[in-house]
Amino acid sequence: MRPIGTIPRIAAGALLAAACAASAAQAPAPDAERTLRAGGSELHVSVTGVDDPRRRAQLQDWLAEVARAQLTAFGRYPLRSARVRIEPVGRETSRDDESPVPWGQTLRRGDAAVLLFVRDDATPAELRADWTAIHELSHLFHPYLGRDGRWLSEGLASYYQNVLRARAGLLSPQRAWELLDAGFGRGRRESSGAPLVELSRRHEGTMRVYWAGAAFWLQADVALRREHGTSLDGVLSRYSACCLTGTGEVAPADFIAELDRLSGTTVFSSNYPRFAQSRQFPSLDATYRDLAITRSNGELHFGQHGPGAALRRAITARGATRPAAP
Ligand SMILES: [Zn+2]
Repeated sequence: MRPIGTIPRIAAGALLAAACAASAAQAPAPDAERTLRAGGSELHVSVTGVDDPRRRAQLQDWLAEVARAQLTAFGRYPLRSARVRIEPVGRETSRDDESPVPWGQTLRRGDAAVLLFVRDDATPAELRADWTAIHELSHLFHPYLGRDGRWLSEGLASYYQNVLRARAGLLSPQRAWELLDAGFGRGRRESSGAPLVELSRRHEGTMRVYWAGAAFWLQADVALRREHGTSLDGVLSRYSACCLTGTGEVAPADFIAELDRLSGTTVFSSNYPRFAQSRQFPSLDATYRDLAITRSNGELHFGQHGPGAALRRAITARGATRPAAP
């Protein structure tokens, strides 16, 4: 879910009911539905509550570009079939939130569905620059992990929302690292001292939950690439092929154990308890060294030579990850 404090004020239930009633009354319209296909998987994208056919096409084109960014992980959508529903929201309904996509959510009732509320006056450029859609699509890479696993699920979506956009050319690689670093900074400022898993369970400490979670996946990705000849993409591709379903709950420890098994490593389990019980933001000093990222005078600097630079580029470079068979 998108971590914005104003979300509840959108009155999601009322909007959903109105949108469902509206869509039931409408005849099928061009671009109300599109099916995106890749590697035997399908994403069924619907736009409801939008009368203007040009706007429907615009929203479908936007989502198709975001979906292409998702494919830079392993060349197919993580689930064999999932739905995306795009609905408009008026400026007056979410006036406290200037985002072009003020609310997104992944639902897992019956089947997996990503729901995106898009401001009705958001321009294509504003939509293209927003991270909400790729964040929500990234939630399809993992099973539902319950409240204790929120830090893992939100962390994965927060990591991938930047990495995948960089690979797709929606962000420069440098900007992606800067956004990750800014997120880590927000997480670091959460100072309750409570264990991460407790914040996760109690729906508190949002910034530490999201960004300590993202740090967990970044560390795992770096370790897999440096020491084991694979990557987070590769391991999640295998998980998608063997084990992922759109509904049902998986215990976080079981998910971690499965990722260890699929990678033939202990990369995930060796950090999992330490992160879950951490009372402050984990240090990323060693990870930044591995990626040739340094900081001076409050600015990030990116080394251009050597294995650290190569590793960093491999994570975010366009076309770095070829479509892979499961
Ligand atoms: Zn989320």
